[in-house]
Amino acid sequence: MWYLQRAASRLAIIGASLKRGTLPRLQLVNHSHSSEVLTKHIDMRVRLIPALEDNYMYLIIDEQTKECAAVDPVEPDKVLSAVEEEGVKLNTVITTHHHWDHAGGNEKLLETAGKLKVYGGDERIGALTNKVTEGDQFNIGSLKVRCLFTPCHTSGHICYFITGPSGEEPAVLTGDTLFVGGCGKFFEGTAKEMYTALVEKLASLPPETKVYCGHEYTVSNLKFAAHVEPSSNAVKSKIAWATSQRSKNEPTVPSTIAEEMQYNPFMRVRESSVQSHVGKEDPVQVMDLLRTEKNNFRAT
Ligand SMILES: [Zn+2]
Repeated sequence: MWYLQRAASRLAIIGASLKRGTLPRLQLVNHSHSSEVLTKHIDMRVRLIPALEDNYMYLIIDEQTKECAAVDPVEPDKVLSAVEEEGVKLNTVITTHHHWDHAGGNEKLLETAGKLKVYGGDERIGALTNKVTEGDQFNIGSLKVRCLFTPCHTSGHICYFITGPSGEEPAVLTGDTLFVGGCGKFFEGTAKEMYTALVEKLASLPPETKVYCGHEYTVSNLKFAAHVEPSSNAVKSKIAWATSQRSKNEPTVPSTIAEEMQYNPFMRVRESSVQSHVGKEDPVQVMDLLRTEKNNFRAT
């Protein structure tokens, strides 16, 4: 039963690091859960860097100035190798929320990389230098970042909408608020807040906005989506694609806002097909019931 003991000691390491709010010294994952991919936009490139068991970190690189920002850099060493490979200058850290698997690498990154601006919406974020809230803006070189305050998963969660000089092909960093096919758990907020975040704020971004989220949860999210809307072709074809991606260790990120509107039940709480699944019409109530059902959902 050596493997059980090893699993238990890994859990102890994780538990201890959760308490300290720091990263474990031991490398917990030897094999990356996904390959690193680069997505090119007109004004920026986004490098996806897998971390831990199913987290995603990102580098957002401004093509004009080669300045870049690291997003949720929980494994600083991987981020710094990527910065070197890309030949860019790191001067900013963007943190979506304070949970250790997103913010837990900030201090260590600054120890190695020197003084960086660290943006986030919560005092609990390590090494925070610039606290932001709804509507705040800052730059990564020529890129403009607009902050969307999206409390619910945590009370200080921020999503970041990024556009370049062309104004085309924007991106949004959604942390643990919006996932491909799903949304984050309501740890410090209400269904009303998640409704505001998803349906009022994120859904009103340009439909072509690429969505970069905090975890690779797509296949299990879509199994729940198929349970909610069993006759949806959008859900069926996305599951087929996502399953094939995962069988090759390829990420399912990014998606787009327009795509999420087609298959993500939490973005679709105003649709009659989703409302009839839970037997309610009020979209906030639908959001609440869907989240509770998903918390207990086990895909077969
Ligand atoms: Zn989280």
